[in-house]
Order: sequence, then C-alpha cells, then structure tokens
Amino acid sequence: MRKIDLSNFQVATSETARDINRRIVLNLIRSHQPISRADLARHSGLQRSTVSVITEQLIQENWVKEGASGHVPRGRRPTFLHLNKERVRIIGINVRPVTTTLVLADVEAHFAAQESFPTPRKPEQFITEVSGRVRRMIKTHPEITYEGIGVSLPGRVDLATQRLVFAPNLGWIDFDLKASLERATGLPVELENAANACALAELWFGQHARGVNNLVAITISEGIGAGLILNHQLVQGSTGLAGEFGHASIIEDGLECSCGNRGCWEVYASNLAAVRYYTQSTSAVRTSKAISKRSDHTPTFEDVLRLAEQGNPRAVAAIQKMGHYLGVGIAMLVTGLAPDVIVVVGEVTRMWNRIEPIIASTAEKRLSNRYTTRILPSDPGGQPRLVGTIALVLQRHFGAPAVA
Ligand SMILES: [Zn+2]
Repeated sequence: MRKIDLSNFQVATSETARDINRRIVLNLIRSHQPISRADLARHSGLQRSTVSVITEQLIQENWVKEGASGHVPRGRRPTFLHLNKERVRIIGINVRPVTTTLVLADVEAHFAAQESFPTPRKPEQFITEVSGRVRRMIKTHPEITYEGIGVSLPGRVDLATQRLVFAPNLGWIDFDLKASLERATGLPVELENAANACALAELWFGQHARGVNNLVAITISEGIGAGLILNHQLVQGSTGLAGEFGHASIIEDGLECSCGNRGCWEVYASNLAAVRYYTQSTSAVRTSKAISKRSDHTPTFEDVLRLAEQGNPRAVAAIQKMGHYLGVGIAMLVTGLAPDVIVVVGEVTRMWNRIEPIIASTAEKRLSNRYTTRILPSDPGGQPRLVGTIALVLQRHFGAPAVA
C-alpha cells in the first residue's frame, strides 16, 4: 500500500473513476485483442453498459477499432475490438556515445522507419541534426498524428530540472535536452536513462513480463547500468540517479573507476573489463592473428567476443572472468531487491550458453537463502533501448493514473 503524499495528491472525482475504468479497458484490449465487449465485461467485472460507453468513447477517439464478427451458437454475433495501430506514431531516439538511432513506431512498438547517424560531439549540434531528421520523417508520413518523442540516454536525467546529469561517456553535462528538443520539433519529449528504458521495454513489451511485478534490467556496455521496476513502477530515487549499481563498489581498494570511486562493479564486469582481462593475459596479442593485423593493436570488445566464439582460450577466459563478476553483482541485486526477473542486455548475451552457468554458480554461492529470481538474456533480435523510448511516451495513455 502506498502512503498518501500530502504534498502531491488529487482528490477523487467522478472523472477519476471514469479515467481508471477507461485505462483498464484500454489495457485489456491491448493485451487480449481481438476481444468482444462481453469478454471485456467478464475480464474487468464492469457492467456491460459501462463497457459499451467506454468502448464507444475509445472508438470515437480512434484508439480502438471494430474488426471481424465472432461466431456464437445463438444470439447476436459479437464484434471484436482491437487497438487502432494506425492512430498515432511515436518517435524513438536512442543516443549512444558513437551512434544515434531514430525510429518511427506504432503503439505496438513496431518500427516503420529507422535511421542512424554519428552522434555529434556537442549537444547543440545534436539538436540541429536530430530535429532536421524528425522534420523530414514527419514530412514523409504527414497523415499521421505524432504523439511525442522518447529519448534513451547513456546517462541520468535530474528529476527536478529534467537536465542531463551524470553522462560520463557522452560528456553533455547539464544540458537541457528536453526543452531544446521540444522547441526544435514542436513535439513533447520524454527523456530516460538507457537502463530504465530497457526495464520499461521489458515491462510493456517483453516476453518475460507477464505476472511480473518486480524486474531489473542490467545494461552491459562500456559501463553497467541498472533499471529497477518495483511494484510495477520505475524507481528513480530522489534525484533520478537510482540504479547506478555499476558504480557500487564491490572491491574495497580495488581498481580506480572513471567516477573517482574504487572497485566499482563496472570496472570488473563491463565490456571494457573483458578487454582488459584479455590484453593482460600476457601473450594474447602475439597469439591472435586477427588482432595482430590491426594497426593500433588495441582489441575492442567485439574482437574479444568474436575470438571467444571461435574458441580462443584467452578470450574465453576473459569472457568467463567477466561472467564471474557479473554473477557477483547480480547476487547483490537478488539479495537486496528479490526481483521476479533480471534481464541482461548487451552484446555479451551472444555467449549466454557459456556465461549463464558461471553467473548462476557465482550468484548461488553468495545467496544463503533460496532465491526464485529468473536471470535471463534480453531477446537478441530486440532493440530494448528503442522499444523503451516508445513505452515512455505510451505510458501517458496506458499507464495507471496518479490518484491520492
Ligand atoms: Zn565508478
């Protein structure tokens, strides 16, 4: 049960009840489509007449469409309802340090268009580039209503100011991305950290989300981020910085991290850690023909992963060590949060068959109590950061209303 926040509450009106029932019906249609009005009444417990009023309103607003007629032995044939996928389009933007990707998606997060470009070094250049591309996208598909823009970022957004804070890999510190992008495009903009976006993607569109109330998404790239969903709600903390488990120290007096702290989880379990393990294994560079051909002799994570997939023993050992430390951090998350599911996002999941047993055995050794958390890789074909940006905009209409 949630305590009533006396600094931020809404008293219930007759409008409140209507809004709650409308959102419940809209979500039931979304998850059970195609569905008849009779089944909506059965699933919701609402009167048939109330369901009819709500569905008429949703049809008028174009959120819902009537489809084929069903077959029943006797009486009137029911008409099935489904979401009107064509009603709105949402623009999703995934900003990563090197590349930015832009998609045009429908309410089911299917992408109708997708384009990528190198991420500009300065945020002002980014706004110019991305708003030009958004305008061209809208021009190409002018008949559609645009609901807004969702943005996934390799950093955290200050809850009070909506400014970008703590984005060490991007370097755009204290920039008002939301206001600038809204001004440049004329569309409402929602910003979110990449790990939070992945958690939202799993909650709204994931294959493991059914019956799940508590979910953690872990993004593993140059660093490590965590997106926490507890009791169906994204945890943001008082500042918006919640989820920075990548910078929780797991080894006191350990190696120095870019954040200034020592022994951070990401220093031992990120992609960069695996590259370091590989290059530190003394003769690694000499024995690898693939890498000795490279002019700079600096392997990337992709190189290490590919060599490991080919069975190179040093690369395999580096990935296994990374897997061990992933297990150490995952054990901390399971112990502290007891989520139903932990979803792991990142290139390393390509070797899930190899690292999953290591993660599991490392975690089990550290967990004294029986745990039921399922640890799963994200769908390799999915683009969770982008799907999450669509969920970000969509939850305005489909999310639970704030009451009391
Ligand atoms: Zn750190």
